[in-house]
Amino acid sequence: MLTQLQHFLDRPVGQMSVRELILVGVVAGISIIVVGKVRRYRLRKGLAAHTVEMRCPDCQWRGRAGRYVRRCPKCGSGAIQAIQPERS
Ligand SMILES: [Zn+2]
Repeated sequence: MLTQLQHFLDRPVGQMSVRELILVGVVAGISIIVVGKVRRYRLRKGLAAHTVEMRCPDCQWRGRAGRYVRRCPKCGSGAIQAIQPERS
C-alpha cells in the first residue's frame, strides 16, 4: 500500500513528479491564504488608522471619514466635526 502510494507520488507528470506537483499546490494554496489574510488585516488596520468618526451638525450625518476630511460628504458643510472616541 505504502509502496504503491510512493510509486504514485514519484510518477512523472510532465517535468515533475506527482509529489512535486502536490507540494507546489500546497505551497501555492498556503501562500494565497496567507497573502489574503495579510491584505485584509492591513486594509482593516489602515482604515482604522486613517479614518475617524465624524458628525455633521447641519444635516446630522454620522459616519467614518478620512482624518483630513473637512467637508460633510452628504451636504458639503464645512462644520463637520470629529467625534472623540469614548474612553471608559
Ligand atoms: Zn452634512
